[in-house]
Amino acid sequence: MEGKKVALITGGSRGIGKAIAVEFAKSGYNVVFTYNSTLPDGVLNELKALGSDALAIKCDVSVEESVTALFKQLEEKYDRLDVLVNNAGITNDKLLLRMSFEDFTKVINTNLNSCFLTCKNAIKVMGRAGGAIINVSSVVGLMGNAGQANYCSSKAGLIGLTKSVAKEYGGRNIRVNAVAPGFIETDMTSGLTEEIKKEYQKQIPMKRFGKAEDVAHACVFLAGEKAAYITGQVLTIDGGMYM
Ligand code: NAP
Repeated sequence: MEGKKVALITGGSRGIGKAIAVEFAKSGYNVVFTYNSTLPDGVLNELKALGSDALAIKCDVSVEESVTALFKQLEEKYDRLDVLVNNAGITNDKLLLRMSFEDFTKVINTNLNSCFLTCKNAIKVMGRAGGAIINVSSVVGLMGNAGQANYCSSKAGLIGLTKSVAKEYGGRNIRVNAVAPGFIETDMTSGLTEEIKKEYQKQIPMKRFGKAEDVAHACVFLAGEKAAYITGQVLTIDGGMYM
């Protein structure tokens, strides 16, 4: 297909998602990204300055109608989709006995059910032209973590979704992979106390947390030609925390 490739990134307004949006723009893609609450000043202009058309769409990825509307808007602007990065995600940490069913299902809806919806829509747009889907899981989806039964279940579920969709659509040249970041410095981890951060760093062979850009580089790699024969894989980006 001729013309600039289009990448859709969910939750691209800040943190890892924003770094992914910037990296795709730098790599020559037109970037469409979603946000749920407010769109911080400057994100669109930053992407435009990198040569991307850049389109921001408000969307709650946990709501089916909202995802349907997102894809309608995307298709009105572009008649193609080359890359989907399912990045939007939340935590709501509590020990199991303190976790309500609502605490559990909200995280599952936002982190996992949303990806079922976006994958389905994306595969329809990608059609027979092919494309790449990258699901942002987590090392705790592989390891489990006390206080995160909801989050770990959602991230483990994403790995099952990744492999199943990879098996179903590999024949259409749609590659589906997951990235599993360890501790990355963003708003999501900024609430941890210094003491907890030090404890976690002891478990990381590289003795430091990662940066959002570390995840973004892996996503651009997995989306591109250099990863043309890679599908159904989980790439950990964690300084060796899980091996
Ligand atoms: P973050 O700074 O908290 O950003 C989360 C992003 O998700 C924001 O753009 C937010 O949009 C969006 N979002 C949340 N709920 C949404 C909803 N219902 N619909 C649409 N968008 C929604 O988080 P982060 O650290 O960058 O994490 C990004 C992804 O990486 C998540 O999936 C997370 O689980 C995963 N991850 C993070 C780490 C880490 O250490 N940080 C490690 C492993 C995996 P608004 O700003 O509009 O609310």
